[in-house]
Amino acid sequence: MIIAVDGPAGAGKSTVCKILAKRLGFVYLDTGAMYRAFAWALDTGSDGRSRQLRAGLDENQALELLERIPLLFFIKENKLEICYGERVLSEELRSPEISEAASRISQLPAVREFLVSWQRRLAEQVSIVAEGRDTATAVFPKADVKVFLTADLQARAKRRFAEYSEKGISLSLEEMQERIRERDEADSNRDHSPMRPAEGAILLDTSRLSVEEVVDRLGEQVQKLIEAGSPAY
Ligand code: C5P
Repeated sequence: MIIAVDGPAGAGKSTVCKILAKRLGFVYLDTGAMYRAFAWALDTGSDGRSRQLRAGLDENQALELLERIPLLFFIKENKLEICYGERVLSEELRSPEISEAASRISQLPAVREFLVSWQRRLAEQVSIVAEGRDTATAVFPKADVKVFLTADLQARAKRRFAEYSEKGISLSLEEMQERIRERDEADSNRDHSPMRPAEGAILLDTSRLSVEEVVDRLGEQVQKLIEAGSPAY
């Protein structure tokens, strides 16, 4: 079974999808982390050339790098594990710089095709709750449940601000708001798989809903499908 949840930064996707996946015993597939991993890997390229490439990376350079960057994605103990060679990537993917770099490199079709093919392969093995920008529109257009989560810009900036403050990353609320707005704009207006609600998606504005309320609403939808005997994807 595939549950595909899209929406802009700070809409609550990660929190909600993690809880939902745990509740259902599904794997939580954070596709954003996969784009972040590629952005991070560019900084770490062994020949020192990659760092300079990140800002102006073009399609051909991306293709060449994708062949030699040792990025691997596994399902391990019901979780997505992202590896760069032997190294498991996690917190290093969460900085504001990597957020912006991920948004930039996600515009390139070669990068998207590479990561989408990984995402589909991973979903062949297990039931998943996938979250991202294009999971219901492009990656899994036949997902059993499609959701588009959103929230007003202020609510989203406040959530990210709180997350970053906890980690000791200092960005003002205004800066946060501006960065999210820019990222939304780039993600919604790119040529390849722009962020938008999929046809038939459940639209949920989470600005004034608690995490529990959102999880419960989505959980109900999934339960209904399971009871109705939804065919596997
Ligand atoms: O969701 P997250 O903030 O981790 O995503 C980082 C960036 O990766 C997004 O701003 C977007 O540009 C890109 N992304 C994407 N498609 C996805 C997931 C993320 O283009 N399915």
